[in-house]
Amino acid sequence: MLCLTIPCAQVSVGQNSTQKEIPVLCYHNVCSKVSVAGDLWIDAASFESQIRSLKDSGYMSILPDDLYSYLTMSEPLPPKPVIISFDDSHAEQATIAAPILYRYGFKAVFFIMTVTIGKAGYLSASQIQELSDEGNCIGSHSYDHPLVTGIEGTALKWQFYQSKITLEKLTGKQVLYAAYPYGVWNRQAVDTLRRLGYKAAFQLNGPKDMLEPLFTLRRIITSGKWSGNTLQSHIRKSFKSL
Ligand SMILES: [Zn+2]
Repeated sequence: MLCLTIPCAQVSVGQNSTQKEIPVLCYHNVCSKVSVAGDLWIDAASFESQIRSLKDSGYMSILPDDLYSYLTMSEPLPPKPVIISFDDSHAEQATIAAPILYRYGFKAVFFIMTVTIGKAGYLSASQIQELSDEGNCIGSHSYDHPLVTGIEGTALKWQFYQSKITLEKLTGKQVLYAAYPYGVWNRQAVDTLRRLGYKAAFQLNGPKDMLEPLFTLRRIITSGKWSGNTLQSHIRKSFKSL
């Protein structure tokens, strides 16, 4: 039986000097061809080239559970870990991106906005189940992608409760991680997620909050215009040792 609403105790993050900030990449649309490559769009060949470059340079993908164990219990990670994440539930994340990742031995976390499940162009229930069964992590990206700073109380709670239980029923696994729509967060959103049983949450590239480091984990949005080398230089620049 799934445990849906046990509050997660506030966990302190290890602060020893050997801990590094682990790179987390954020992708949106991966398409066979794109007319204008940019922050939200990348074509399949460029995506594969970025992933191949990471693989050839010794990067290994890890999942949010691995990062959480590293940050809270100093569990070891591979020498060059990276988290690959996808937002906004586009269908091509399953049909194009996932097969490319598997070719290089990578897994990813897919942050799903549940309002789109089954809608044309978006991940279906069976695709989400399959991604989960294949060893990827499924996380919440809310119900319908609001700015969390624009809602409060039950409306805010419902966004992350509805998506959590929907995805847990679909996958048969606990949904413990979230990504804030637009990367925007506030204290109320952090408190709400914690009360709902989430263990950590990802923003975009704003500064990590010193009081809530687990709920303000940083990501960078990758660009479809970047070569593999450019991607790696952005990783080195954006994620420095703590
Ligand atoms: Zn989004």
